[in-house]
Amino acid sequence: AALDQIEKLEKKLNSFVTVDAEGALKRAEEVQKLIDDGTLTSPLAGVPVAIKDNMCTEGLLTTCSSKILGNYKPVFSAEAVLNLERAGAVVIGKTNMDEFAMGSTTETSAFGETKNPWNTDHVPGGSSGGSCAAVAAEECAYALGSDTGGSIRQPSSFCGVTGIKPTYGTVSRYGLIAYGSSLDQIGPVAKDVTDCATILEAIASYDPKDSTSVKREEYDFTSALVDDVKGMKIGIPKDYFMEGLDHEVKEAILNAAKKLEEKGAVIEEFDLSLVEYAIPAYYVIASAEASSNLSRFDGIKYGYRTEEFEGLHSMYKKSRSEGFGAEVKRRIMLGSFVLSSGYYDAYYLKALRTKALIKKAFDHAFEKYDVILGPAAPTTAPKLGDSLSDPIKMYLGDIYTISVNLAGLPGISVPCGKDSKGLPIGLQLIGDCFKEKNIIRAAYSFE
Ligand code: GLN
Repeated sequence: AALDQIEKLEKKLNSFVTVDAEGALKRAEEVQKLIDDGTLTSPLAGVPVAIKDNMCTEGLLTTCSSKILGNYKPVFSAEAVLNLERAGAVVIGKTNMDEFAMGSTTETSAFGETKNPWNTDHVPGGSSGGSCAAVAAEECAYALGSDTGGSIRQPSSFCGVTGIKPTYGTVSRYGLIAYGSSLDQIGPVAKDVTDCATILEAIASYDPKDSTSVKREEYDFTSALVDDVKGMKIGIPKDYFMEGLDHEVKEAILNAAKKLEEKGAVIEEFDLSLVEYAIPAYYVIASAEASSNLSRFDGIKYGYRTEEFEGLHSMYKKSRSEGFGAEVKRRIMLGSFVLSSGYYDAYYLKALRTKALIKKAFDHAFEKYDVILGPAAPTTAPKLGDSLSDPIKMYLGDIYTISVNLAGLPGISVPCGKDSKGLPIGLQLIGDCFKEKNIIRAAYSFE
């Protein structure tokens, strides 16, 4: 059914970079045997999944939607993908994304933009736009995305699906091609909270191959799927409802808060503070880490190499100039600048201090609240082409999601209505570190 849907819609949507129909059907047959003989009992057994194209899949093209990795077939699979395969998942293909996960619209992909299934004149969001569009269009049952500054939650919100960014360290980053290593997390994108919790349970694991992997006390998320928010304390940051927030989005979010209140949750407004510093701090830190992480793409070890060059230096320079797109180059330049001597203290160190203060502000809020509620994005999905012309404007759209990554917290985006154009609106619920169950429980009341 998923392959039929891909056949029908892919030309229009472009959610995938690679569709592995043959591999998926073969794998489905193998899994069916294991289900029949009782070896595989997981709820994910045989279910088709799409994987964002920045997660390594053995023998299957993994491009990060970049020309520089256009021919890269990894010899190993990411731990999160292996965890899914252990549960019997059938990988159906690799989804389109902003190049190296840098962007908010999936328009910076070297393989063409993905379109929003609700209205193909609009973007699906990004950077996991391919994953979210594929789930919304039923080209797969669920997908994996990655979230460095909102890349699961924002496109989930634009595509009317549910996505979780887990606590930093919960899902192994082994085999996830690094963007901002101290912020990156893999998470599920699915039709509803129940699916997301089930998938998270399968992909979360302690992995010694990822030095930032955390051994959690428990890996149970599905027991939070209960329709009961009585007594839950929910904080609404006043700072999230100021200028810049679309009035239809605002109304939908406040209506959702009202629903939680009717079900017995205690809702209160508070000052989160520092919200305006999150964007500059994030873009300094993420770009700094990206400039270092992307230095490995030099045309030698793997990926694209320029055809004509004179000597090693010219080969590096030409391979990277031809292989990377404009947004990636912008981040590499910005990152190299803020890390260079003379500027390090003024920008990078200051951004790290800001990050620590943001974490403190959240710690303080979580002394009082179980969950923080707000929008996932200030608007619904913009029109194709509207964001790319002005990068600063695009960066400002990340206002509600990036501080969650800076503080390492879990966040979920759940659909909570549509605007007058029929485009989905997403509600974001943020929890304290390792308290995914709180956000899952609160989100479940919308199911
Ligand atoms: N839009 C943000 C960026 O471009 C977040 C992307 C992400 O989470 N990968 O950096």
